[in-house]
Amino acid sequence: MSFGGFVDANTFRQKFFDFFKSKGHVVIPSASLVPENDPTVLFNTAGMQPLVPYLLGQKHPLGKRLVNIQKCLRTVDFDNIGDNTHHTFFMMLGNWSLGDYFKKEAIPWSFEFLTKQLNISKEKLAFTVYQGDSKIPRDNESANIWLSLGISKDRIAYMDAENNFWSAGETGPSGPDSEIFYWTGKSKAPNKFDPYDENWVELWNIVFMSYNRLKDGNVKELEQKNVDTGMGFERTLAILNEKESAYETDLFYPVILKIEELTHKDYEKYKREFRIIVDHIRAAVFLIADGSVPSNVERGYVLRRLIRRAIRFGNSLGMDKNFTQELAKEFIPIYKDWFPELSENKDKIITELNKEENKFRNTLVKGLKAFRKLSKKGTLSYKEAFLLYQSYGFPVEMTIELAKEKNINLDLEKVQQEFKKHQEVSKKGSKQKFKGGLSDSNENTIRLHTATHLLNEALRRIVSADIKQKGSNITPERLRFDFNYDRKLTNEELKKVENEVNRVIDLGLKVKKVEMSLKDALNSGAQAEFGARYPERVTVYYIGDYSKEICMGPHVKNTKELGHFKIIKEESSSAGIRRIKAILTN
Ligand code: ATP
Ligand code: MG
Repeated sequence: MSFGGFVDANTFRQKFFDFFKSKGHVVIPSASLVPENDPTVLFNTAGMQPLVPYLLGQKHPLGKRLVNIQKCLRTVDFDNIGDNTHHTFFMMLGNWSLGDYFKKEAIPWSFEFLTKQLNISKEKLAFTVYQGDSKIPRDNESANIWLSLGISKDRIAYMDAENNFWSAGETGPSGPDSEIFYWTGKSKAPNKFDPYDENWVELWNIVFMSYNRLKDGNVKELEQKNVDTGMGFERTLAILNEKESAYETDLFYPVILKIEELTHKDYEKYKREFRIIVDHIRAAVFLIADGSVPSNVERGYVLRRLIRRAIRFGNSLGMDKNFTQELAKEFIPIYKDWFPELSENKDKIITELNKEENKFRNTLVKGLKAFRKLSKKGTLSYKEAFLLYQSYGFPVEMTIELAKEKNINLDLEKVQQEFKKHQEVSKKGSKQKFKGGLSDSNENTIRLHTATHLLNEALRRIVSADIKQKGSNITPERLRFDFNYDRKLTNEELKKVENEVNRVIDLGLKVKKVEMSLKDALNSGAQAEFGARYPERVTVYYIGDYSKEICMGPHVKNTKELGHFKIIKEESSSAGIRRIKAILTN
């Protein structure tokens, strides 16, 4: 697909992979947008996130040099949507060195890729490096490498920790980064680089994970130094096509044309509205494909806000019938070859969007009327904002936005505060679901949870040692376990696995939990879910010496409590992922 541009998205992506393959990297798939069973984060916000266990020292099965494109979602960028460079959902290209190469390879490679593979002129590039502080030296090494590549010193800026120092948290791995900027101004790029001039757009961030920050405030060099890079796919694609933004590339343009068709309005004239709609629906499509559904708390609320905001803007452009599914149908073919989960979940995506749109359209027009009436006096109280939320399903952020647009006074802080309180209360009810993926922990779910650990280990022993958990879901009736494997299991294999689990159940093994650092847990060989991100301290559950797994529990005390294990179904879950459903009987 091409829209007068020079490089289509697929070619660009392939170029990145091929280039790093030529430097010894192996392509790995994107992790889910929604980290499963992880209460600490709502979404993956960077390519680094799902790779944390490997950056901390766990051996990656595919080696020390990896390359990928990771689906990311950033709610902090909500207010930027509509500009040229920020999307809610976006894709991050990354090359990774897990204790392998470092600055003197990583920097010249990114330069080579930009200038030789993508033919970007070095006259349009500028760079930042870390200026140093009392504990960490100025990153002269990176600056010198840039200079050695022919970059003038005026195009290198030294920046503080806020801008150019990455850390996982107060303690733990951290290090300086070097960022690559591109001149998007209409005039010739100035010789002197001013990183605060907005015509310079950040394209690529290269992090050199070098230090461990200790509790006492000191820093120690890491034993395993890593390189973690993040390049904005959308931003770079726009530049390659000499477009103002990615919206004018094949990542979005077919959908923009669809809206023009539905509204008989011009993108150029209603740019912000068009952009918000396509940005939000793209994000919603990917979120639903990765297992989110609209709700009033946490991930589901983010999804709801995205869909409802898109509908409000769509409505303002005159789309008064359901359109979100129409746009989703345009998006799916654009991305389907890269992210097969989109076609696999097509029905679900369309059903969820339609359901949400029906729900919201029921109250949208009445709600807008109520807003006009309530705000006639020029102000809106938090109680009124709350009424709009409860009676008309207006996410409070929408009411805040409407008030801003119409110059209505609203006590922003109070509204946000009250709404947060309300969400805390609703959240309590849903908290349990994060406890190891359990929706509620009654006796049956606890038993099934322990059985899941046994199944995981049995699969690894009987079928393949490379099997890793890719997801799990437990109800009081059954367990569901997803794992990587590239073909259907035979009936014989299934029978063997079933027998193995029952054999271990009958051994009456004791279940024990131990708290330890994530690093110790991974070093001890405890099973961790593939692609999941874990906190620094974790609980490891031991089932006798048969299975050990990082998990938040709860579990039974002895395997004898499980009764009899039975596999009821084995099927494909998505490309390369199998799914087993099993039950326990007495
Ligand atoms: P900016 O300051 O421009 O928002 P950032 O510092 O937040 O960027 P990083 O966290 O370093 O960006 O992310 C790595 C790369 O991902 C960036 O260099 C950029 O190309 C891209 N990127 C970051 N945020 C977004 C976004 N919201 N939409 C699209 N691309 C993004
Ligand atoms: Mg940012």
